[in-house]
Amino acid sequence: MENLLDFYKIRIEDMLSLLESLVRHESPSTDKTLVDALSRHLHKVLEERGAQVTVHPREAVGDLLLAKWNAEAPGSPIMLMGHMDTVWPGGTLDHDVPVRRDENRFSGPGALDMKAGIVIALEAIRGLQDRGEMPERPIWMLLTSDEEIGSDNSRELILQLASSVALCLVMEPAAENEGLKTSRKGLAAYRITARGRAAHAGNAPEEGSNAIVELAHQAIALHALNQLRKGTSVSVTMIQGGTAENVIPAEASLYADARFFSADEARRVDETIRGLSPVLMGCTLEISGGITRHPMERTELMIKNFERAQKIAAEIGFSLGEAAVGGGSDGSLTAQAGVSTLDGLGAHGDGMHALHEHVLIRSLPRRAALVAGILRDWPI
Ligand SMILES: [Zn+2]
Repeated sequence: MENLLDFYKIRIEDMLSLLESLVRHESPSTDKTLVDALSRHLHKVLEERGAQVTVHPREAVGDLLLAKWNAEAPGSPIMLMGHMDTVWPGGTLDHDVPVRRDENRFSGPGALDMKAGIVIALEAIRGLQDRGEMPERPIWMLLTSDEEIGSDNSRELILQLASSVALCLVMEPAAENEGLKTSRKGLAAYRITARGRAAHAGNAPEEGSNAIVELAHQAIALHALNQLRKGTSVSVTMIQGGTAENVIPAEASLYADARFFSADEARRVDETIRGLSPVLMGCTLEISGGITRHPMERTELMIKNFERAQKIAAEIGFSLGEAAVGGGSDGSLTAQAGVSTLDGLGAHGDGMHALHEHVLIRSLPRRAALVAGILRDWPI
C-alpha cells in the first residue's frame, strides 16, 4: 500500500472543494441561523462518509454535531474535535475576505480557523476507509459552534465525551513551525468597579472619596502582577469613570486581561485579583470576572503523547515540531481535565482572525496523513 503522504497528495482537489463549500457557508458564532445552515451541510457530508450522526440542539448558538464511526467496535474511542463557528460576521465573503486561491494558498473567512481542520479530519477518515485501514475502535468527531466565544454552550458535552476517550485530537490550526501546540496560555478577564463619594471639587473636596484615584492604585497593583518571563501577563485594558470636570468621581471601572501558562500562575493571579482591597478611606471595590480558559500545560502526559505523534509522523516521512501559543482552545478544556490531548492538528497557514487569513495548500495532505496515521496507529 502506498505511503500515506503520497496517498493524500492526490486528494488535494477533493479537500479544496470541500473546504470551499464550508467557507461559503459563513458561520459567525453569534448567528445561529447561519451556523445551523453549516451544521446541516456538514451533517449530510458526515452521513455520506458513513457516520452515525447525533444533533445536539442549542438555543443560543448553532446546533452541535456528534458523528461516530465504528460505534460498536471494542476499544476506547479517539475523538476529533472541531468548531464550525468563525470570528467573521456574515457578509465578509463578499467584502473583506473573498474566497481566493492561487498555487500555494487558499483564503476565505474561517478557512484556517478552522474549516480546513474539519476537512482534514474528514479526509483522514475517508482515506482510511478507502484503504481498508480504519482502526478497530470507535472514532468520534465532535463539531461545536461556540469555540470563538468561550464554549459556554458546549463545554459540558465536550468534557462528558472526553471522559471516555483515549485521545482527543483538536483540529485547530498548526503552529508556526507546522508543529503541534503542546501548551496554551490560559485566560482570565476582570472588571473592577470602585465606588467612593462625589463632592464638589472646589467647595468641598474633603467630603469626596475619589473612585478614579482608588482605581489608579488598583491599576498599579494589577500591573505589578506581570511576570512576562514566565509568560504571565496582566494588562489593564480599559478604564472609565467620572461625570464632570469639577466633580470628585463617585464611581469608576477598569477592565483587566490576564494570561498564564501554568495552573500555579493562574491561581496566583486570580487569588490576588479577587483579594484586592480598597486603598482610600470611603471607597469600596466590586470585583467580577475570573478565569475563562484554563491553561493547557506541557505536562508529562502531553510530552509522552507528543512524542508518540512525532514517531508516527517520522514513519510517514516528516518531522513534527511543537510550540507554545498564547490563545486558548477546547483542547485546553480536555487537557486540563487530564484527558490525553493533541492540539494543532489542523492546517498550516497564517492570519487567524485577520484579513490575510489563509491556508497553505501543501499542508492539507501532510496533516491528513498525520491524522490518519494517528487514528490508525494509536495504541488501543
Ligand atoms: Zn479555532
